[in-house]
Amino acid sequence: MPELPEMEAWRRQLSDPVSAFPIAKAGPAHIATLKTFNPPVSALEGRRFRGAARRGKRLLFPTDDGELTLMVHLMTAGRLKSLRAGESGPKTPAFALEFVGGSKLVLTEAGKKKRAGVWLLSPQAANEELAHLGPEALGLDTAELGEILRRESRRLHPLLRDQRALAGIGRAWANEILHAAKLSPYALSTDLTDAEVDRLAAAMNAELQRGLALRERSTSDERTYRVHKKLGEACHVCGTPLAQVDFEEHTIYYCPNCQTGGRVLKDRRLSRLLR
Ligand SMILES: [Zn+2]
Repeated sequence: MPELPEMEAWRRQLSDPVSAFPIAKAGPAHIATLKTFNPPVSALEGRRFRGAARRGKRLLFPTDDGELTLMVHLMTAGRLKSLRAGESGPKTPAFALEFVGGSKLVLTEAGKKKRAGVWLLSPQAANEELAHLGPEALGLDTAELGEILRRESRRLHPLLRDQRALAGIGRAWANEILHAAKLSPYALSTDLTDAEVDRLAAAMNAELQRGLALRERSTSDERTYRVHKKLGEACHVCGTPLAQVDFEEHTIYYCPNCQTGGRVLKDRRLSRLLR
């Protein structure tokens, strides 16, 4: 799933092309992709976007008259593409916008399950849709992160991925950040020392910035991640083979030397926890 670095790189790429021309035609939209029907997407026609904004993992395209906001959540398999006039695109996009002059913005989704979503909202309704999100993960300082960690005792990996606590991090960057911070994915948030909170805040900002810089150069997953999905590969810090553990419905990757003091973490699958 694209996370903060990927979405922010897309936001920067899309902001100019989506605001260059007014919208000529809004749609077609797959019935499962378009989550709102009032106002209809045709209400976008004739209006122009002010650019692209982002909140957590969602992209927002506000119209320059201040009346409407198009919100996009790509979930796992959704992808956005800006097409120049005449450039060929996917035959059946999940959602498409055509601009005056012929350029397009298209959303595609691999696989049969349509999980990505597009919402057309008033600015107030958009604010309500986003109100549950915690602060942006990129730019959080030690004091702000410390307050989030100490609110309740939770394991670090699921806490970092909880968009209500802080917005923008998913499985991949939680793996990268916890490795950079040399913290166990299973460590309890309230057990962290001040020095560890400081290290986690620094690692979070450094890793999200590193990811953003790489994604702006369209770097592949393989070359962007150093821990995520690298089972058995040598840790880039200490050379120990990286390990994986199943936690609830996710697979976590970590270095058993850098992060858990040599301890191998035990699986805690949701199916087993529920038994
Ligand atoms: Zn290591």
